[in-house]
Amino acid sequence: MAVLSSEAVVLRTWPVHEADLIVSFFTRDYGRIKGVAKWALKSRKRFGGALEPMTVARAWYAERPRAELVRLDQLEIIRSPLSGPVDMARMAVLSFYAEVLDECLPEHDPHETVFRLLLSVLEQTAAVSPEAGHSGAVQPQASQPWMALTYFSLWITRLMGLLPDVGHCMACQQELRAGEVSFSAYADGLFCGLHRNQSGNALSADSWELAQRMLRAPASAFAGEAWPRRRGQDLRRFTLQALERHMERRLRTAEALGRLGG
Ligand SMILES: [Zn+2]
Repeated sequence: MAVLSSEAVVLRTWPVHEADLIVSFFTRDYGRIKGVAKWALKSRKRFGGALEPMTVARAWYAERPRAELVRLDQLEIIRSPLSGPVDMARMAVLSFYAEVLDECLPEHDPHETVFRLLLSVLEQTAAVSPEAGHSGAVQPQASQPWMALTYFSLWITRLMGLLPDVGHCMACQQELRAGEVSFSAYADGLFCGLHRNQSGNALSADSWELAQRMLRAPASAFAGEAWPRRRGQDLRRFTLQALERHMERRLRTAEALGRLGG
């Protein structure tokens, strides 16, 4: 029985038997894996806080012949979501990443680009705004996680092959113009002013331009900008619709984010 090791991010856990946990985790080298963490509920010292969703860790696990679940032996924390500032918005955003990835990623199928996306948005979700960091005696104020959420939503939609052309109207193929762009709950693409659906929603000029910039630049490039929670909200809704249409169900964590105004 070979023991495998990979950098990994914990997505979700649920109890099984009286003391074990099933863990869904996304490994860099082998893709998403499901395993059993034996005695994880009884013996805290074995896994410590490493089973907290969105923990980045080095994982050791063994594949078992004819068994669907691997045996998760050890997780060594590289970065814990609990080491940064923790608040309702940030926890809701982390839960959203976990649910989307747990739903979208096929098992045993490595996806390096998604892994790198996840690491970069986790860093940005925990980031403290730069101006607050230099404020000396003033308590550093953590920046809100809305930029990271917007970046993740856009890119995971693209990497799952669900993002339509954001530059052209899906009805007439004409180039779109800022301020005249809309989307509909019943179609995959964006529409020009002429082909706007009656039940369509406007995609603001800022959001449309953001989408194009975000598809060309790393998440860190947007960290210095002001990110009130309303910024990019329509763009997040557009990508969420694409994700939910693909999954054919509503995302539980998106409802929680909606209640926070995200
Ligand atoms: Zn058109």
